[in-house]
Amino acid sequence: MLYKRSSALFAEAETVIPGGVNSPVRAFKAVGGTPIFIKKAMGAYLIDEDDNQYIDYINSWGPMILGHAHKPVVDAVIEKTKLGTSFGTPTEIETKIAQLAVSMVPNIEKIRFVNSGTEACMSAVRLARGYTGKDKIIKFAGCYHGHSDSFLIQAGSGAVTFGSPNSPGVTKGTAQDTLLATYNNIAHVEELLEANKGEIACVILEPVAGNMGCVPPKDGFLKKLRDLCTAHDVLLIFDEVMTGFRLAKGGAQELYGIQADLVCFGKVIGGGLPVGAFAGKAEIMDHLAPLGPVYQAGTLSGNPLAMAAGLAMLSELNQDKDIYARLADKTAYLHKGCAEVLKKHRISHTINRVGSMISIHFSETEVVDFDTAAEGNNARFKAFFHGMLKQGVYIAPSAFETWFITDALTYDDLDKTIVACDKVCSEL
Ligand code: PMP
Repeated sequence: MLYKRSSALFAEAETVIPGGVNSPVRAFKAVGGTPIFIKKAMGAYLIDEDDNQYIDYINSWGPMILGHAHKPVVDAVIEKTKLGTSFGTPTEIETKIAQLAVSMVPNIEKIRFVNSGTEACMSAVRLARGYTGKDKIIKFAGCYHGHSDSFLIQAGSGAVTFGSPNSPGVTKGTAQDTLLATYNNIAHVEELLEANKGEIACVILEPVAGNMGCVPPKDGFLKKLRDLCTAHDVLLIFDEVMTGFRLAKGGAQELYGIQADLVCFGKVIGGGLPVGAFAGKAEIMDHLAPLGPVYQAGTLSGNPLAMAAGLAMLSELNQDKDIYARLADKTAYLHKGCAEVLKKHRISHTINRVGSMISIHFSETEVVDFDTAAEGNNARFKAFFHGMLKQGVYIAPSAFETWFITDALTYDDLDKTIVACDKVCSEL
């Protein structure tokens, strides 16, 4: 494949945009080479500026669960655009999408819309602190909750890909209020809660981690966490920015039958436009301004175009009875195919999968937390990534990311991906 135009565009971008990108993982820094510039996407495919076509497993890092340029979503945005793009006043569609989200997700009564997953998590933590009157929070190493200061402590995703899970610019004061636990290790959480009795506002986690590859919660982990939080009077926040409306209509809360106190959303809820949201019981949510003292706001929050895209997306997911089973079946098929190929070529690997999230780790160790995720063979991942790209399969340019399966992928696409995997593995 030729990347002539992508290379030229990247060189030009680098002169005016730091690193040539507006979000670090888009740069191919971890895997080497030049990022490809995409000019359009349809269904399961991306087309780059050099007219190369790829089967897409990033899907804008999660939102495009029904595939790219999905007609009902595109039509809804076009129609709304004709009526004006932002008013800074309440609009009817905000209530419509809020009602739908509340009806789909268990255990939430009120929801507030923001513009990104970062904002959703940042605001949920502020609300938890305001509601409980306590300052400290517990997060897990390898979980990513966006780039607000409190979360850039052993963060996953791009933060770890680029070797800065603890970012300069986060003050010591902020860092000391974030306590770090080990994912899937309930004893560690218990120790932290005991050692900081009466000081912890909330525990926040990705109920299925997706920012150190895909790392599922061990059996009983979420239930024990719920019980511990209740016993210590600490709020449990599920960051469902990746898992919300993806693993089930009601996200991980529904899949695992666990009730969180606050839930954060992003990605799918915006149908590919910039949307985040956080939600919970009215009793907690009503502490937000203007009803309560916890301040949170946004000029473009609840933007009509973003709400139109999100409403169209959620409506489709709500109406389609089989969508989550279909997605899980496709993911299981890909898992089986890739596992057979990797085994055939005697390549050490572990594949993690939950619903439509899947990741291949180049190590035989069971991947259950950040340390075990970090054991993967990075040189092998780089070669695998570039090999797959050459075969027309676009996976995330970092070993610390999940692949996302969409409804637009056909079994023929999955077969092509498995054949590509076979070719690449024969050369690793
Ligand atoms: N939480 C999780 C679990 C995420 O995966 C992400 C983004 N990948 C975020 C929060 C932050 O969302 P955003 O990039 O929209 O700010």
